[in-house]
Parts: sequence; C-alpha cells; structure tokens
Amino acid sequence: MAFQTLADLGDLTGRRAVIRVDLNVPMADGRVTDDTRLRAVRPTVDAVLAAGGRAVLLAHFGRPKGKVVPEMSLAPVVPALAAVLDRDVAFATFDDALPDLDVVVMENTRFFPGEETNDTDLAKRFAALGDVYVNDAFSCAHRAHASTEGIARLLPAAAGVTMAAELAALEAALGTPERPVGAVVGGAKVSTKLAVLEHLVEKVDHLIIGGGMANTFLYAQGRDVGASLCEKDMADTARTILTKAQATGCTVHLPQDVVAASAFAEGAPHRVTGLGDVGAEELILDAGPETAEHLKRVIAACRTLVWNGPLGAFELKPFDAATVALAREAAALTISGALVSVAGGGDTVAALAAAGVRDAFSHISTAGGAFLEWMEGRTLPGVAALEHQADESSVA
Ligand code: ADP
Ligand code: MG
Repeated sequence: MAFQTLADLGDLTGRRAVIRVDLNVPMADGRVTDDTRLRAVRPTVDAVLAAGGRAVLLAHFGRPKGKVVPEMSLAPVVPALAAVLDRDVAFATFDDALPDLDVVVMENTRFFPGEETNDTDLAKRFAALGDVYVNDAFSCAHRAHASTEGIARLLPAAAGVTMAAELAALEAALGTPERPVGAVVGGAKVSTKLAVLEHLVEKVDHLIIGGGMANTFLYAQGRDVGASLCEKDMADTARTILTKAQATGCTVHLPQDVVAASAFAEGAPHRVTGLGDVGAEELILDAGPETAEHLKRVIAACRTLVWNGPLGAFELKPFDAATVALAREAAALTISGALVSVAGGGDTVAALAAAGVRDAFSHISTAGGAFLEWMEGRTLPGVAALEHQADESSVA
C-alpha cells in the first residue's frame, strides 16, 4: 500500500491542515458518553501542531441527509474534544470567518447535500479551508464523500497517525500476513457477511465459522438445527463457499458439538449435544466445549488471526462461553508474541471487551462498515484517494 503520511507533507509552518476525523461519538443529554473516537484524533492534531501547522477539523455527525438539523450540530462535541486535546478548540460554521485559533472544528459536513454525493464544488469549498489534507477517519473511508474522497484530489493529501496505524495493522493481517492465517467469522446471518466469507476462503488457511451463520452451514450439510436461527434459502450459497474452500486449500471449521437451549434468553435451560441430536424446539446458541478446545488448537497453530463476529449469542450468559474461551486464547497467544490478532465489528468488540481481552489484541478496529468492506477485499475510496496521490508524487 502506497499512501502518503504526515511526514511526507513536510514542514507545516504557517500552513493549515484540513483534517477529516471521526467525531461521530455517542451522546446523551448533550454530553459525550464515550470519548474513544475523540482520543483517536489527538495524535494527528498534536503532530500537525508540532510541525508548525494549524488544524481545521472536518467531520459528520449523525445522518442529517443534506439538511441543517440543529440537533445534529457538532458544537456540543467541541468541549469534550478540547478536554481530550488539552487545548482551546474553536467551533465554526461554514458561513463564519475561520477563527484565529490553532484548532477549529467545522460544522457537520453532512448538513450539505453535496457531502454524500461527493460534489466537486463542495470539495473545493472544504479544500479552501487549508493548504494540505489529512484523512484520519478510517471508519469513513468506505464512503466516497466530498470530505473523504473529493477533497483528497484537490490538496496534497496524507493519512493521519490513527488512519496510518489502522492501515498498517490491516495490511499485516490480510495484505501480507505471516502464515498460517486464521479467520473467525461469526454473528447472526450468512447473508450479511457473504462477501466476507467469499473473500476469506481465498485468503486464509483456516476459516472458523460460528454464531447463527454456522447453523446455516450445518443445515446445508444436512444437519437438523431445530428452531435455531438459520437461513435455509442460503444453503446453496453455503455449499458453494465450502466447495470453493476445498479448491483453495482453506480448511473450514464448523461446530462439532453445540449448546442447545430451549429459548433465546439469558440463563435459558440448555444442554451440550452433538450434531444430529438437536430437538425440533431447541435453538443452537453457542458452540460446544469440544469445539472450543478444537478452535483453540487451530488458532495456536496460526501466526495471524482476523476476527469478526461472535461464536454464539454472547450477550446472553452462558452462551458467551465459546466466544470468551477463544478470545482469551487469542489474547494469550498475542501477549506471548506467537500471534498477530486483529478484530473488528460492533458486537465483536463488545464481546472482546466483555471477555476482558480488548487491550490484548494486536489491533481492534472500531470502524464498523469500513472494517467489513476491508474484510471483503474491497478498495476503500478514502484510502484509494491517498494512494493515488502517492503514485503521482512518486512519478514526479
Ligand atoms: P458484529 O457486530 O461484530 O459484526 P454481528 O452483528 O454479525 O457481529 O453478530 C452479532 C450477533 O449475532 C449478536 O447479536 C448475537 O446474539 C448473534 N448471534 C450469534 N450467534 C447466534 C446464534 N447461534 N443464534 C442467534 N443469534 C446469534
Ligand atoms: Mg452487529
């Protein structure tokens, strides 16, 4: 991957960097309830200021759909950002003159209809705010918007510190990984992760399929899954993926034993059972202990692990057992230096946090949609716009 980083932009004395960041933080009663995304902004802002520059931050908030929606103003996020950055931060709408302060947050980019349509005139308006462009919002890189893609073609452009770290971690996991590579794909449905499965069978040595989608694969193999979540209309697709895996030499690991429950509820009566013995009224809510032990051995033989989706209905105890067991094994292997581990996905990150191993993984992506599109092997427009520039400057 060839993309410019902040260092390539050189001395920023007297120059303004327009920085696309992710300020789409959870809020309640006008206050920020989780400042994880704000903390991710700090390394780049600090670096720009250290290089003598000033920072103008562009970000969206919520989905105002091209209209000014006062409840979706970024103004209430500014005090929390100032606290995290430990410096004064000004706020400006696009009608204001740019305040004379080192860090300025601009109003919600999605108040403009041209943001999501990647309108050239809007990209020019954004570009006019500064001299260079820095994209530090990997979570928005799967969208070709004026503030993520259009603007990158109008100014010298680079990846910010957080974005560069994310790209490096993802490259190490699936771009040029150390083999064997294992992937865990779990969660509710095959249909939402079809493209991920199709891409991974070409890329990884071991594909571990868990969660509700494992039921669809078991069903496709002629197993009775009772009343479990199962997409019967995806059986053909599941068989195609298994055939493709055979052709590419990817070993697919499906549950060998399961936890069958009488209801989709916390603490529901349940039993561990082999395949072929699931009652018509029962629901498979987790992989069984034998499977968990087997999967621990599989990842212990891997050098790289990519993980999206829990192995069971982890929000309902005790159906988190297989997910927690495998997560702890991955964490221990990572800490010992034997494994590079990358995980992403809203529920996956919640499951790893609940298992107490969030910080032990090599890299945790909170990028959501962008992480999944990357797992599908897609080129993200926001990243491609930075690569394009690196190509041009390497020719020059
Ligand atoms: P992520 O947000 O990490 O991408 P998903 O949203 O795809 O993950 O999957 C998480 C959901 O999958 C959880 O709500 C979990 O309850 C559900 N799930 C996992 N296993 C099962 C199962 N066996 N039956 C029903 N739901 C399941
Ligand atoms: Mg989810």
